[in-house]
Amino acid sequence: MSYTIEGTTGPWEVVIGLEVHAQVTSEAKLFSGAATEFGAEPNTQVSFVDAGFPGMLPVINGECVAQAVRTGLGLNAQVNLWSRFDRKNYFYADLPQGYQISQYQFPIIGTGQIEIELADGTRKPIGITRLHLEQDAGKSLHDQHPTKSYIDLNRSGVALMEIVSEPDLRSPEEAGAYLTKLRQILRYLGTCDGNMEQGSLRADVNVSVRKPGEGFRTRCEVKNVNSIRFVMQAVEAEARRQVELWEAGEEVVQETRLFDTSRGVTRSMRSKEDAHDYRYFPDPDLPPLVIEQAWVDQLKAALPELPDARRARYVGEFGLTPYDAHVLTLEKETAAFYETVARGRDPKVAANWVTGDFFAGLNRTGHGIGDSPVSAENLGALLDLIADNTLSGKLAKEVLEAMFETGKAPGEIVEERGLKQVTDTGAIEAVIDQVMAANAGKVEEYRSGKDKLFGFFVGQTMKAMQGKGNPALVNELLKKKLG
Ligand code: ADP
Ligand code: MG
Repeated sequence: MSYTIEGTTGPWEVVIGLEVHAQVTSEAKLFSGAATEFGAEPNTQVSFVDAGFPGMLPVINGECVAQAVRTGLGLNAQVNLWSRFDRKNYFYADLPQGYQISQYQFPIIGTGQIEIELADGTRKPIGITRLHLEQDAGKSLHDQHPTKSYIDLNRSGVALMEIVSEPDLRSPEEAGAYLTKLRQILRYLGTCDGNMEQGSLRADVNVSVRKPGEGFRTRCEVKNVNSIRFVMQAVEAEARRQVELWEAGEEVVQETRLFDTSRGVTRSMRSKEDAHDYRYFPDPDLPPLVIEQAWVDQLKAALPELPDARRARYVGEFGLTPYDAHVLTLEKETAAFYETVARGRDPKVAANWVTGDFFAGLNRTGHGIGDSPVSAENLGALLDLIADNTLSGKLAKEVLEAMFETGKAPGEIVEERGLKQVTDTGAIEAVIDQVMAANAGKVEEYRSGKDKLFGFFVGQTMKAMQGKGNPALVNELLKKKLG
């Protein structure tokens, strides 16, 4: 059941802990008023603070602090009312200050916990060690000039949350599920957009291997992995490399590595630095960060409903299957869409249509929920047309297809195409009479006991009505007339 890697000396367990950097959703940077919008012209969103000019003073952005607190609450974590910013000193061309303002000994958020879901439906709690606030660095561009490197400081000073997990993860799948869940929570909270392609969320993946029952062995850290799939691949590649090393009688040395996504292997980047290499000390430009419990309580009261609670509500209140509830709550936008469709209607029927034909329609037409040609209101209206017998289920599928093509409301399509279901018993009876007259022999067979022929008559009647006969009425009237 549990994941292991088979070596020549037997099975090996994998131990994983993730350090995730999440860009805080905020209009301004952590210690300056410069903008943070993605994709701006290089060096157009840089204040003197972000450029590390001597004598500039950082001023904390209250919204970034609020976002960190909201995130901590969403991770069921301890919120520290007293925290402190330290300087982490290192040289890098795109770090003009010569240090990063970060939190080290006293982070704003302490231990917490989230639950991950695995493909087989099992759930597992994963410990959160801490969350701290820190500045992002700038970006070096090496592909703009044959002999020079350029530097873009737009990102310099942008607020990041570093979210550290306990080494509780035991397989590539668990690592992927953890990052998926964390991203989902951040997106529900609105504290990070979770856009991994744009670098808003990236993970350092710590991996070690051990024999079952042993304590932890030395780990390596794979830096800056920028997709969930790559995190899973990096875990596997790094774990296999370590197993081979140990089994060859060599040692794993603690170091920082990079994942080469094209070759699917990790390679050494630098030896691991220790905390003392950074000469951390309290930033003299910033007083300790003190917040009040009353403010934390206010933020807590205003938190949106989070995925776990929402999923539980869909199962408990709406009677959905755990799977449907899971699928519908993956993204906040999908859940909101579903709830609009379900409002005042049968929630299970609504769930079937949203997860079934509606999702299929999005896939087919290459749309997302955000730019769906079919609005939640229109899908709801379609369900109403089924409920009041205007449309059979089969016709409704046709109408939905047309809604994807045209963006029109279902009522309009029904009118235009004359798709209305026939519920006039007289009209149905007339068709049945014709069908029976044309198949007199079969009517005889049916009456002499060949019950199986009933389906034939239903099919013929529906065909003659171009699928528009109300199925329940067709059945009822056929029974009466054939009986
Ligand atoms: P550092 O600050 O030096 O990176 P931390 O103690 O903060 O060290 O740990 C960083 C990450 O490494 C955490 O996510 C933690 O869960 C993980 N980790 C610690 N020990 C191991 C181990 N033996 N194997 C795998 N991951 C580990
Ligand atoms: Mg670390």
